[in-house]
Amino acid sequence: MNFDLTPEQDQLRDAVRALGRRYGHSYFVEKAKSGGHTTELWDEAGRLGYLGVNVPTEYGGGGGGLTELAIVCEELAAAGCPLLLLVVSPAIAATVINRHGTEEQRKRFLPGFADGSLKVVFAITEPDAGSNFHRLGTVARRDGDDWLLSGRKCYISGVDEAQYVLVVARTEDAASGKLKPALFLVPTDAAGLTRSKLDMEIVSPENQFLLYLDDVRLPADALVGGSLDAGLPALFAGLNPERITVAAMGVGTGRFAIERATDYTATRRVWGGRSIGAHQGVAHPLAHAAVQVELARLMIHKAATLYDAGRDLEAGVCGNMAKYAAGEAAALAVDTAVQALGGAGMTTEYGVATLLGAVRAGRIAPVSREMILNFVAQHVLGQEKSY
Ligand SMILES: Cc1cc2nc3c(=O)[nH]c(=O)nc-3n(C[C@H](O)[C@H](O)[C@H](O)COP(=O)(O)OP(=O)(O)OC[C@H]3O[C@@H](n4cnc5c(N)ncnc54)[C@H](O)[C@@H]3O)c2cc1C
Repeated sequence: MNFDLTPEQDQLRDAVRALGRRYGHSYFVEKAKSGGHTTELWDEAGRLGYLGVNVPTEYGGGGGGLTELAIVCEELAAAGCPLLLLVVSPAIAATVINRHGTEEQRKRFLPGFADGSLKVVFAITEPDAGSNFHRLGTVARRDGDDWLLSGRKCYISGVDEAQYVLVVARTEDAASGKLKPALFLVPTDAAGLTRSKLDMEIVSPENQFLLYLDDVRLPADALVGGSLDAGLPALFAGLNPERITVAAMGVGTGRFAIERATDYTATRRVWGGRSIGAHQGVAHPLAHAAVQVELARLMIHKAATLYDAGRDLEAGVCGNMAKYAAGEAAALAVDTAVQALGGAGMTTEYGVATLLGAVRAGRIAPVSREMILNFVAQHVLGQEKSY
């Protein structure tokens, strides 16, 4: 058992931390509130190779694994910049293409993931399917060599910043019964693809959208893996990276909130000589949140290590547990930090309440805490499925 990062991973952590701190939470909030995007941070992280750490070297990436990408996600969040696009583009989309794309797709897309110049977002959720992916209604029909896609997607993050959306559809002949998914790379400016921005109560420069696909015509090579048989494994390939990196973002956010709060409680004095942090009513909730965050962090490390060792099934169990634990820990940490800061906790200046919406959403998306508990109940505890 080894809990140490390699020297290279340590260096990566320090370097990403330094970059994140240079931008900081006020940059993130200012972009969010002005309707902007964190493009400068994204581009710089891309140039420095942090966005492509998990892309193989032959396509220009860092040749690392999910451990490295989780470090990037955690450290940027710990600096107050939790970038959801890291989860959808380098974690989900790049992994899906790397593991299940054709060689032509790898050559075409992976160099852009490696330097961050390409952003691909991910669309699976639908209004009438929600957590039940078997009910997906987005249909792909053959038309000669082309494909025609029709359907609706909701809550899709970052479409306005991306060049492509990785759309999960089903083929026409599989419109009922068990889902046989097919994944398509759809240009965000494709004819027939329209979007409308959702008003979300989250302070974030990344937006969520409703997507409408109305007979979007795609060439044959838009189908990931070039064959319908690639669909299911390609979809599953994205799940572990998604859960592990979103968990890392949660843990980073929790660390950020606890650091903000403890800096404050260690120096704020309202009862004479002692700081408010000397009172156990203030310090213990923060210490409890710190324990939860560190426990989640350990599980992320385990999940990423298993994944990088090619042990996908075990990584799946740990990745789900990590995502659950991190989602709960981040929500607890931010709420506890707000309380410990008192009135300052609700100000924009202290930058903790600005995270309340994001950490609340982290218990719902990309997979809800209930669906993870269902997974653990069924696959770890051997319980019957209720749905
Ligand atoms: C900020 C944000 C960003 C997102 N970004 C993306 C994105 O980029 N791409 C994308 O495809 N999707 C995205 N989503 C969608 C997200 O993945 C879904 O919201 C999530 O999977 C839950 O689906 P739903 O909202 O339809 O909830 P529903 O499925 O309607 O569920 C509602 C509630 O019922 C519970 N529930 C449902 N079924 C069961 C059951 N069998 N047992 C117990 N409880 C159950 C759920 O846990 C939840 O609490 C995003 C969502 C948010 C909030």
